[in-house]
Amino acid sequence: MRFDGLIGNAELKEQLSSLVDNGRLPHALLIEGPSGSGRKTLATLLAKAAVCRHSDGAARPCGVCPDCIKADAGTHPDISFYGGSDRARSFSINTVRELREEGYRLPNEAACRVFILENAQALTLEGQNALLRIIEEPPKHLRFILTCRSRFELLETIRSRTFALTLGGVGEEEALPWLRERFPGQTEEDLRTVTRLYGACLGTIAEALADSHWKDSLALAPSLAEAILAPTESVLLAKCAELPSRDPALVQGVLRELRLLFRDALTAKYGQSGRMSPSPQTADKLAASLTAAALLQLLETVEALETMQRRNINHALFITEACAKLRAAVGR
Ligand SMILES: [Zn+2]
Repeated sequence: MRFDGLIGNAELKEQLSSLVDNGRLPHALLIEGPSGSGRKTLATLLAKAAVCRHSDGAARPCGVCPDCIKADAGTHPDISFYGGSDRARSFSINTVRELREEGYRLPNEAACRVFILENAQALTLEGQNALLRIIEEPPKHLRFILTCRSRFELLETIRSRTFALTLGGVGEEEALPWLRERFPGQTEEDLRTVTRLYGACLGTIAEALADSHWKDSLALAPSLAEAILAPTESVLLAKCAELPSRDPALVQGVLRELRLLFRDALTAKYGQSGRMSPSPQTADKLAASLTAAALLQLLETVEALETMQRRNINHALFITEACAKLRAAVGR
């Protein structure tokens, strides 16, 4: 199988290649990964490989056969997209009923039909149960590709009947050439910083660079970290309230930056060198004021907050929780 357009993820590519080349790809796949990690790119590649007419599995998708050309143009009659919105419960049971009905029709041109269900975590509970019935016993010609943030947002019954493929961030050295080509106006330093900040999720980096406010998260993270040390809660609450409600990617950026800061503080606490955060003074200040146990607790807390935020928690509730949990971590 060929992976044109999907950067990084070497292990996953190897695993998929051996399945596709040997014709052993399961009929229902579940692609998980953060927004911007290439879920749609991979789903589209797999759908294209499934309809491609090239005789050699290793050369699929070839990009030049009539099926590949139609797939690229988004007009292949045997590749259908469903869902799409990230909004909770926006993927309704009616859409699942529609796709179930459609799924029993034979392919139009290719050997199989491929249904891509985007943002499957947005499926309602009824929707998931309805989907289960066709995933359990699908018609022979039908393939499913679900994409989601995390497979754990889906019912266990769906997880156990799909084959999970996990997309990770790509390495800096793989991401940078891609970014340099697309963002020639950005400085090398900015590209490196934003790559580290957003965990090398290319889609998210591209979004962040497009409006350049990612720098705000670099500015906000150290002051938020220092506010944890303040004697009263109001200082931290005010800082947490600066987290923008309309920009979850930026909130994730701040949380990631906090994680680096706490890790650096721990490193400093143990008298070791090697800092990852661009705010080493803040890391040193945290190290001087807090115990190693408290710093470890902060690290765990920020990881829990990242998970909470990925689950689309109400923003006001998130701010309150973040403030309370960060203070509790340092015994305040
Ligand atoms: Zn082809």
